[in-house]
Amino acid sequence: MIIVLLGPPGAGKGTQGERLAARLDVPKIATGDVLRAAVREGTPLGLEAKAAMDRGDLVPDAVIMGIMKEALASPMAARGAILDGVVRTTPQAEGLAGTLATLGRSLDAVLLFEVDEDELVRRLSGRTTCDVCQRPFFGRAPGETCTEGGQTGTLVRRKDDEPDAIRKRMQVYQDQTSPVIDWYASHGANMVRVDALGTLEHVEARVHAALGISR
Ligand code: AMP
Repeated sequence: MIIVLLGPPGAGKGTQGERLAARLDVPKIATGDVLRAAVREGTPLGLEAKAAMDRGDLVPDAVIMGIMKEALASPMAARGAILDGVVRTTPQAEGLAGTLATLGRSLDAVLLFEVDEDELVRRLSGRTTCDVCQRPFFGRAPGETCTEGGQTGTLVRRKDDEPDAIRKRMQVYQDQTSPVIDWYASHGANMVRVDALGTLEHVEARVHAALGISR
């Protein structure tokens, strides 16, 4: 199964994507995670992407297409993949369709996570992230310790979770990513809307219902 997760920053795509990937036993591919790892490692990709990411801007489509192609062609994705935040512009949606056609595959569904903007700003401005395992936390302060996954890390605020960058990311979503919804609608994609407000378990149950996944 190949599923695109679409929705504004902070809508819960990462968390739900991880659970869905585990449930379907396919990898989750998140361009944001790939880029952050590249920034941490100081690779050429990371150096190219860092400034745009810190500002809350998008990195160029060509960079994303490279990551997308490599990830989808890897044997790990042979049974499918959950694409989290991978499609953020209409050229990227076109590029993904082309890549899948080349690989003889197709998109099974686009899950559109819907949450109102005030809730998103509230969530993102209260989010900290472990500097080791990269898990997000809500309501825990920077400097606290994370021991998930058997390693010890420190919670930090992502640069793009600072107020100015959050506002910028919302604007970028409206201007550049929301047209992707119309693109998929006009290209006959199986697009399902999910109310992303509520507990993790409630939202997960809606995701399963939307995709016809049994418990
Ligand atoms: P995320 O973790 O998905 O919120 O992504 C963090 C940042 O990485 C975004 O604000 C962008 O700067 C960059 N990024 C991730 N995925 C993409 C994409 N598909 N297109 C452009 N930029 C991206």
